[in-house]
Amino acid sequence: MNSFAAIDKNFVANTYNRFPLELVRGENSTLFDINGKEYIDMGSGIGVTAFGFNDEVWKNAVTEQLSLLQHTSNLYFTEPCAKLASVLCEKTGMKKVFFGNSGAEANECAIKTARKYAADKKGSDYYTIITLENSFHGRTVTTLAATGQAHYHELFNPLTDGFVHTPANDLDKLIKTANSHKTAAIMIECIQGEGGVNVLDEAFVKGVYDFAKENDILLIVDEVQTGNGRTGKMYAYIHYGIKPDIVTTAKGLGGGLPIGAVLFGEKTENVLGFGEHGSTFGGNPVCCAGALSIVERLDEKLFADIVTKSKYIFDELSSASGVISVCGKGLMIGIKPVKNASDVLKICMENGVLCLTAKDKLRLLPALNIPMESLIKAVGVIKDACKL
Ligand SMILES: *Cc1c(COP(=O)(O)O)cnc(C)c1O
Repeated sequence: MNSFAAIDKNFVANTYNRFPLELVRGENSTLFDINGKEYIDMGSGIGVTAFGFNDEVWKNAVTEQLSLLQHTSNLYFTEPCAKLASVLCEKTGMKKVFFGNSGAEANECAIKTARKYAADKKGSDYYTIITLENSFHGRTVTTLAATGQAHYHELFNPLTDGFVHTPANDLDKLIKTANSHKTAAIMIECIQGEGGVNVLDEAFVKGVYDFAKENDILLIVDEVQTGNGRTGKMYAYIHYGIKPDIVTTAKGLGGGLPIGAVLFGEKTENVLGFGEHGSTFGGNPVCCAGALSIVERLDEKLFADIVTKSKYIFDELSSASGVISVCGKGLMIGIKPVKNASDVLKICMENGVLCLTAKDKLRLLPALNIPMESLIKAVGVIKDACKL
Protein backbone atom coordinates (compact mmCIF):
# COMPACT_ATOMS: atom_id res chain seq x y z
CA MET A 1 0.00 0.00 0.00
CA ASN A 2 1.21 3.50 -0.80
CA SER A 3 1.60 6.12 1.87
CA PHE A 4 -1.46 8.38 2.19
CA ALA A 5 -0.32 10.83 4.87
CA ALA A 6 0.86 13.41 2.33
CA ILE A 7 -2.48 13.36 0.49
CA ASP A 8 -4.30 13.77 3.81
CA LYS A 9 -2.12 16.76 4.69
CA ASN A 10 -2.87 18.35 1.33
CA PHE A 11 -6.60 17.80 1.22
CA VAL A 12 -7.98 17.29 4.74
CA ALA A 13 -8.60 20.47 6.75
CA ASN A 14 -5.87 21.33 9.22
CA THR A 15 -7.91 20.77 12.37
CA TYR A 16 -5.98 17.67 13.47
CA ASN A 17 -2.30 17.49 14.32
CA ARG A 18 -2.04 13.78 13.51
CA PHE A 19 0.74 11.50 14.70
CA PRO A 20 2.87 10.12 11.87
CA LEU A 21 1.04 6.80 11.88
CA GLU A 22 -0.82 5.36 8.91
CA LEU A 23 -3.16 2.69 10.26
CA VAL A 24 -4.74 0.13 7.98
CA ARG A 25 -6.16 -2.74 10.01
CA GLY A 26 -7.07 -3.90 13.48
CA GLU A 27 -7.61 -7.22 15.18
CA ASN A 28 -8.93 -7.33 18.73
CA SER A 29 -6.82 -4.72 20.61
CA THR A 30 -3.98 -4.72 18.10
CA LEU A 31 -3.60 -2.20 15.28
CA PHE A 32 -1.36 -2.62 12.22
CA ASP A 33 0.18 0.25 10.32
CA ILE A 34 1.05 0.52 6.65
CA ASN A 35 4.41 -1.17 7.25
CA GLY A 36 2.86 -4.04 9.20
CA LYS A 37 4.12 -2.71 12.53
CA GLU A 38 1.89 -3.71 15.46
CA TYR A 39 0.52 -1.45 18.16
CA ILE A 40 -1.48 -2.32 21.26
CA ASP A 41 -4.42 0.06 21.35
CA MET A 42 -4.93 1.69 24.75
CA GLY A 43 -7.08 4.52 23.37
CA SER A 44 -9.89 2.81 21.39
CA GLY A 45 -10.27 5.78 19.08
CA ILE A 46 -11.03 7.86 22.20
CA GLY A 47 -13.22 5.31 23.92
CA VAL A 48 -15.17 4.32 20.82
CA THR A 49 -14.16 0.82 19.70
CA ALA A 50 -15.67 -0.77 22.81
CA PHE A 51 -14.99 -4.37 21.76
CA GLY A 52 -11.86 -3.72 19.73
CA PHE A 53 -11.37 -4.38 16.02
CA ASN A 54 -12.86 -7.04 13.79
CA ASP A 55 -15.11 -8.13 16.66
CA GLU A 56 -17.27 -10.97 15.27
CA VAL A 57 -20.48 -10.16 17.12
CA TRP A 58 -20.45 -6.47 16.23
CA LYS A 59 -19.32 -7.10 12.66
CA ASN A 60 -22.09 -9.64 12.07
CA ALA A 61 -24.75 -7.36 13.57
CA VAL A 62 -23.64 -4.49 11.35
CA THR A 63 -23.24 -6.47 8.12
CA GLU A 64 -26.55 -8.29 8.57
CA GLN A 65 -28.33 -4.98 8.94
CA LEU A 66 -26.36 -3.50 6.03
CA SER A 67 -27.75 -6.12 3.68
CA LEU A 68 -31.30 -5.53 4.91
CA LEU A 69 -31.70 -1.76 5.10
CA GLN A 70 -29.05 0.92 5.60
CA HIS A 71 -31.26 3.96 6.10
CA THR A 72 -34.91 4.98 6.02
CA SER A 73 -35.08 8.46 7.62
CA ASN A 74 -37.17 9.04 10.71
CA LEU A 75 -40.41 9.06 8.74
CA TYR A 76 -40.66 5.31 9.34
CA PHE A 77 -40.11 2.67 12.03
CA THR A 78 -37.09 0.37 11.96
CA GLU A 79 -36.40 -2.50 14.33
CA PRO A 80 -32.80 -1.80 15.46
CA CYS A 81 -33.75 1.72 16.59
CA ALA A 82 -36.78 0.50 18.55
CA LYS A 83 -34.88 -2.39 20.12
CA LEU A 84 -31.84 -0.32 21.09
CA ALA A 85 -34.05 2.29 22.78
CA SER A 86 -35.92 -0.40 24.71
CA VAL A 87 -32.71 -2.11 25.88
CA LEU A 88 -31.18 1.20 26.97
CA CYS A 89 -34.30 1.97 29.01
CA GLU A 90 -34.41 -1.55 30.44
CA LYS A 91 -30.79 -1.31 31.60
CA THR A 92 -31.11 2.12 33.18
CA GLY A 93 -34.71 2.69 34.22
CA MET A 94 -34.80 5.74 31.96
CA LYS A 95 -38.05 6.20 30.01
CA LYS A 96 -37.35 7.32 26.45
CA VAL A 97 -34.44 7.79 24.07
CA PHE A 98 -33.60 10.28 21.32
CA PHE A 99 -30.91 9.20 18.85
CA GLY A 100 -28.42 11.53 17.18
CA ASN A 101 -24.97 11.02 15.71
CA SER A 102 -22.43 12.35 18.18
CA GLY A 103 -21.77 13.46 21.72
CA ALA A 104 -22.13 17.14 20.94
CA GLU A 105 -25.51 16.54 19.30
CA ALA A 106 -26.68 14.50 22.27
CA ASN A 107 -25.77 17.42 24.53
CA GLU A 108 -27.48 19.91 22.20
CA CYS A 109 -30.67 17.87 22.51
CA ALA A 110 -30.32 17.74 26.31
CA ILE A 111 -29.87 21.52 26.41
CA LYS A 112 -32.93 22.13 24.23
CA THR A 113 -34.94 19.80 26.46
CA ALA A 114 -33.82 21.58 29.63
CA ARG A 115 -34.69 24.98 28.18
CA LYS A 116 -38.15 23.86 27.14
CA TYR A 117 -38.83 22.12 30.45
CA ALA A 118 -37.86 25.17 32.49
CA ALA A 119 -39.67 27.58 30.19
CA ASP A 120 -42.88 25.54 30.49
CA LYS A 121 -42.64 25.15 34.27
CA LYS A 122 -41.03 28.35 35.48
CA GLY A 123 -40.93 30.83 32.61
CA SER A 124 -38.81 31.50 29.54
CA ASP A 125 -36.25 33.51 31.54
CA TYR A 126 -35.23 30.30 33.35
CA TYR A 127 -32.63 29.21 30.83
CA THR A 128 -29.31 29.21 32.70
CA ILE A 129 -27.44 25.91 32.71
CA ILE A 130 -24.69 25.43 35.28
CA THR A 131 -21.71 23.36 34.13
CA LEU A 132 -18.34 22.71 35.74
CA GLU A 133 -14.96 24.31 35.19
CA ASN A 134 -12.68 21.99 33.24
CA SER A 135 -15.65 20.19 31.69
CA PHE A 136 -15.93 19.17 28.05
CA HIS A 137 -19.29 18.93 26.33
CA GLY A 138 -18.54 19.28 22.60
CA ARG A 139 -17.51 21.55 19.74
CA THR A 140 -20.72 23.14 18.46
CA VAL A 141 -21.25 26.78 19.37
CA THR A 142 -23.67 25.81 22.15
CA THR A 143 -21.77 22.85 23.58
CA LEU A 144 -18.60 24.98 23.50
CA ALA A 145 -20.47 27.48 25.65
CA ALA A 146 -21.29 24.60 28.00
CA THR A 147 -17.64 23.52 28.07
CA GLY A 148 -15.91 25.10 31.07
CA GLN A 149 -12.51 25.69 29.48
CA ALA A 150 -11.85 29.23 28.25
CA HIS A 151 -9.20 28.25 25.69
CA TYR A 152 -11.81 26.47 23.57
CA HIS A 153 -13.98 29.61 23.51
CA GLU A 154 -11.55 32.34 22.58
CA LEU A 155 -11.77 32.41 18.80
CA PHE A 156 -15.47 31.79 18.47
CA ASN A 157 -17.33 34.41 20.44
CA PRO A 158 -20.13 35.21 20.86
CA LEU A 159 -21.16 31.75 22.05
CA THR A 160 -24.69 30.72 23.01
CA ASP A 161 -25.90 32.65 26.03
CA GLY A 162 -26.99 31.05 29.29
CA PHE A 163 -24.08 28.96 30.56
CA VAL A 164 -22.29 29.54 33.87
CA HIS A 165 -19.31 27.50 35.08
CA THR A 166 -18.51 26.66 38.69
CA PRO A 167 -15.62 24.62 40.18
CA ALA A 168 -15.99 20.84 40.48
CA ASN A 169 -16.43 19.47 44.01
CA ASP A 170 -17.48 22.83 45.52
CA LEU A 171 -21.13 22.27 46.39
CA ASP A 172 -21.64 25.57 48.24
CA LYS A 173 -20.37 27.54 45.28
CA LEU A 174 -22.54 25.59 42.86
CA ILE A 175 -25.66 26.14 44.96
CA LYS A 176 -24.88 29.84 45.35
CA THR A 177 -24.35 30.14 41.58
CA ALA A 178 -27.55 28.25 40.77
CA ASN A 179 -29.54 30.38 43.22
CA SER A 180 -28.20 33.63 41.83
CA HIS A 181 -29.40 32.77 38.32
CA LYS A 182 -32.69 31.61 36.84
CA THR A 183 -31.41 28.08 36.53
CA ALA A 184 -32.91 25.44 34.26
CA ALA A 185 -30.36 22.65 34.66
CA ILE A 186 -27.03 21.49 36.00
CA MET A 187 -24.84 19.45 33.64
CA ILE A 188 -21.90 17.34 34.86
CA GLU A 189 -19.54 14.59 33.78
CA CYS A 190 -19.11 12.20 36.74
CA ILE A 191 -15.53 11.75 35.55
CA GLN A 192 -14.19 14.68 33.56
CA GLY A 193 -12.53 13.00 30.58
CA GLU A 194 -10.86 15.68 28.46
CA GLY A 195 -10.41 17.72 31.64
CA GLY A 196 -7.89 15.20 33.03
CA VAL A 197 -9.79 12.09 34.17
CA ASN A 198 -11.02 13.86 37.33
CA VAL A 199 -13.38 11.65 39.29
CA LEU A 200 -15.99 13.85 41.01
CA ASP A 201 -16.39 13.42 44.80
CA GLU A 202 -19.31 11.32 45.89
CA ALA A 203 -20.56 13.93 48.37
CA PHE A 204 -20.50 16.59 45.65
CA VAL A 205 -22.43 14.55 43.10
CA LYS A 206 -25.01 13.46 45.69
CA GLY A 207 -25.30 17.04 46.90
CA VAL A 208 -25.87 18.30 43.36
CA TYR A 209 -28.51 15.63 42.84
CA ASP A 210 -30.37 16.49 46.06
CA PHE A 211 -30.21 20.23 45.38
CA ALA A 212 -31.43 19.82 41.80
CA LYS A 213 -34.29 17.59 42.87
CA GLU A 214 -35.44 19.91 45.67
CA ASN A 215 -35.49 22.88 43.33
CA ASP A 216 -36.92 21.21 40.23
CA ILE A 217 -33.71 21.96 38.37
CA LEU A 218 -32.87 19.25 35.83
CA LEU A 219 -29.72 17.19 36.34
CA ILE A 220 -28.04 16.30 33.04
CA VAL A 221 -25.22 13.77 33.22
CA ASP A 222 -22.88 13.77 30.22
CA GLU A 223 -21.85 10.14 29.81
CA VAL A 224 -20.43 10.55 26.32
CA GLN A 225 -17.05 9.24 27.46
CA THR A 226 -17.90 7.49 30.76
CA GLY A 227 -20.90 5.58 29.45
CA ASN A 228 -21.66 2.11 28.14
CA GLY A 229 -19.56 0.04 30.53
CA ARG A 230 -16.42 2.19 30.42
CA THR A 231 -16.18 2.64 34.20
CA GLY A 232 -17.30 -0.87 35.15
CA LYS A 233 -21.01 0.03 35.34
CA MET A 234 -23.52 0.66 32.56
CA TYR A 235 -23.18 4.40 33.25
CA ALA A 236 -20.86 6.20 35.66
CA TYR A 237 -23.73 7.90 37.53
CA ILE A 238 -24.74 4.47 38.83
CA HIS A 239 -21.58 4.46 41.02
CA TYR A 240 -23.02 7.50 42.80
CA GLY A 241 -26.51 6.15 43.46
CA ILE A 242 -28.19 9.09 41.76
CA LYS A 243 -30.95 9.29 39.15
CA PRO A 244 -30.34 11.92 36.47
CA ASP A 245 -33.19 13.56 34.58
CA ILE A 246 -31.24 13.34 31.33
CA VAL A 247 -28.27 11.17 30.37
CA THR A 248 -26.32 11.85 27.17
CA THR A 249 -23.99 9.33 25.60
CA ALA A 250 -22.13 8.52 22.37
CA LYS A 251 -18.48 7.38 21.86
CA GLY A 252 -18.42 3.69 22.94
CA LEU A 253 -22.13 3.17 22.30
CA GLY A 254 -21.69 2.48 18.58
CA GLY A 255 -18.48 0.45 18.77
CA GLY A 256 -17.05 2.56 15.94
CA LEU A 257 -20.09 3.75 14.02
CA PRO A 258 -21.40 7.24 14.75
CA ILE A 259 -24.30 7.32 17.19
CA GLY A 260 -25.32 9.49 20.10
CA ALA A 261 -28.23 9.01 22.47
CA VAL A 262 -30.17 11.08 24.96
CA LEU A 263 -31.90 9.13 27.70
CA PHE A 264 -34.86 10.88 29.29
CA GLY A 265 -36.20 10.20 32.79
CA GLU A 266 -39.71 10.63 34.19
CA LYS A 267 -39.65 14.43 34.22
CA THR A 268 -38.28 14.81 30.71
CA GLU A 269 -39.63 11.91 28.65
CA ASN A 270 -42.42 13.97 27.06
CA VAL A 271 -40.85 17.41 26.99
CA LEU A 272 -39.92 17.41 23.30
CA GLY A 273 -42.89 16.90 21.00
CA PHE A 274 -43.48 16.44 17.27
CA GLY A 275 -41.23 18.62 15.16
CA GLU A 276 -39.37 20.08 18.13
CA HIS A 277 -36.19 18.11 17.51
CA GLY A 278 -34.90 15.73 14.87
CA SER A 279 -31.98 14.33 12.92
CA THR A 280 -31.77 12.91 9.40
CA PHE A 281 -29.27 10.21 10.35
CA GLY A 282 -30.34 9.78 13.98
CA GLY A 283 -31.40 6.23 14.80
CA ASN A 284 -29.77 4.89 11.65
CA PRO A 285 -30.51 1.14 11.53
CA VAL A 286 -26.92 0.07 10.85
CA CYS A 287 -25.52 2.17 13.70
CA CYS A 288 -28.32 1.00 16.00
CA ALA A 289 -27.78 -2.68 15.10
CA GLY A 290 -24.08 -2.33 15.95
CA ALA A 291 -24.87 -0.47 19.18
CA LEU A 292 -27.45 -3.08 20.17
CA SER A 293 -24.82 -5.82 19.81
CA ILE A 294 -22.62 -3.84 22.21
CA VAL A 295 -25.23 -2.85 24.78
CA GLU A 296 -26.52 -6.43 25.01
CA ARG A 297 -23.03 -7.57 26.09
CA LEU A 298 -22.68 -5.00 28.87
CA ASP A 299 -23.44 -7.31 31.78
CA GLU A 300 -22.20 -8.03 35.30
CA LYS A 301 -19.65 -10.55 34.07
CA LEU A 302 -18.05 -8.01 31.75
CA PHE A 303 -18.15 -5.34 34.48
CA ALA A 304 -16.35 -7.69 36.90
CA ASP A 305 -13.71 -8.28 34.25
CA ILE A 306 -13.32 -4.52 33.72
CA VAL A 307 -12.85 -4.03 37.48
CA THR A 308 -10.17 -6.76 37.54
CA LYS A 309 -8.29 -5.18 34.64
CA SER A 310 -8.62 -1.74 36.19
CA LYS A 311 -7.15 -3.01 39.46
CA TYR A 312 -4.25 -4.54 37.56
CA ILE A 313 -3.44 -1.17 35.96
CA PHE A 314 -3.74 0.68 39.30
CA ASP A 315 -1.61 -1.92 41.11
CA GLU A 316 1.12 -1.92 38.48
CA LEU A 317 1.37 1.82 37.97
CA SER A 318 0.41 3.52 41.26
CA SER A 319 3.80 3.06 42.87
CA ALA A 320 5.89 2.78 39.69
CA SER A 321 8.98 4.92 39.19
CA GLY A 322 8.17 8.24 37.55
CA VAL A 323 4.44 8.00 38.29
CA ILE A 324 3.01 10.68 40.58
CA SER A 325 -0.54 9.32 40.72
CA VAL A 326 -3.13 7.15 38.99
CA CYS A 327 -6.81 8.13 38.87
CA GLY A 328 -10.04 7.10 37.19
CA LYS A 329 -12.54 4.26 37.34
CA GLY A 330 -12.84 1.01 35.42
CA LEU A 331 -11.05 1.28 32.10
CA MET A 332 -10.99 5.08 32.11
CA ILE A 333 -7.65 5.85 33.69
CA GLY A 334 -5.38 8.87 34.05
CA ILE A 335 -1.69 8.54 34.90
CA LYS A 336 0.21 11.60 36.05
CA PRO A 337 3.86 11.08 35.15
CA VAL A 338 6.83 13.09 36.41
CA LYS A 339 7.81 13.52 32.76
CA ASN A 340 5.69 15.47 30.31
CA ALA A 341 2.66 13.31 29.43
CA SER A 342 3.03 13.86 25.68
CA ASP A 343 6.69 12.77 25.87
CA VAL A 344 5.57 9.57 27.62
CA LEU A 345 2.93 9.06 24.91
CA LYS A 346 5.62 9.33 22.22
CA ILE A 347 7.90 6.82 23.94
CA CYS A 348 4.95 4.42 24.24
CA MET A 349 4.16 4.85 20.54
CA GLU A 350 7.75 4.13 19.55
CA ASN A 351 7.47 0.96 21.59
CA GLY A 352 4.20 -0.20 20.05
CA VAL A 353 1.58 1.10 22.48
CA LEU A 354 -0.96 3.80 21.59
CA CYS A 355 -2.16 5.96 24.49
CA LEU A 356 -4.04 9.25 24.86
CA THR A 357 -3.40 12.30 26.99
CA ALA A 358 -5.76 14.52 28.96
CA LYS A 359 -4.21 17.73 30.32
CA ASP A 360 -1.04 16.72 32.25
CA LYS A 361 -1.95 13.03 32.29
CA LEU A 362 -1.54 9.99 30.14
CA ARG A 363 -5.08 8.71 29.52
CA LEU A 364 -6.00 5.08 28.94
CA LEU A 365 -9.34 4.00 27.42
CA PRO A 366 -8.62 0.47 26.18
CA ALA A 367 -11.29 -1.77 24.67
CA LEU A 368 -13.58 -3.21 27.34
CA ASN A 369 -12.53 -6.71 26.25
CA ILE A 370 -8.80 -6.07 25.85
CA PRO A 371 -7.06 -9.45 26.19
CA MET A 372 -5.12 -9.72 29.45
CA GLU A 373 -1.89 -10.50 27.60
CA SER A 374 -2.20 -7.31 25.51
CA LEU A 375 -2.91 -5.34 28.67
CA ILE A 376 0.10 -6.79 30.50
CA LYS A 377 2.38 -5.96 27.57
CA ALA A 378 1.02 -2.42 27.25
CA VAL A 379 1.30 -1.68 30.97
CA GLY A 380 4.91 -2.90 30.86
CA VAL A 381 5.68 -0.45 28.05
CA ILE A 382 3.90 2.41 29.85
CA LYS A 383 5.82 1.63 33.04
CA ASP A 384 9.14 1.76 31.21
CA ALA A 385 8.15 4.98 29.42
CA CYS A 386 7.33 6.71 32.74
CA LYS A 387 10.55 5.51 34.42
CA LEU A 388 12.98 8.31 35.21
C1 LIG B 1 -16.11 13.47 23.37
C2 LIG B 1 -17.04 14.14 24.29
C3 LIG B 1 -18.07 14.97 23.82
C4 LIG B 1 -18.23 15.31 22.35
O1 LIG B 1 -18.52 14.19 21.60
P1 LIG B 1 -18.45 14.26 19.99
O2 LIG B 1 -18.95 12.93 19.55
O3 LIG B 1 -17.02 14.50 19.64
O4 LIG B 1 -19.32 15.38 19.56
C5 LIG B 1 -18.97 15.49 24.74
N1 LIG B 1 -18.84 15.24 26.05
C6 LIG B 1 -17.87 14.45 26.55
C7 LIG B 1 -17.80 14.18 28.00
C8 LIG B 1 -16.92 13.90 25.69
O5 LIG B 1 -15.93 13.14 26.18
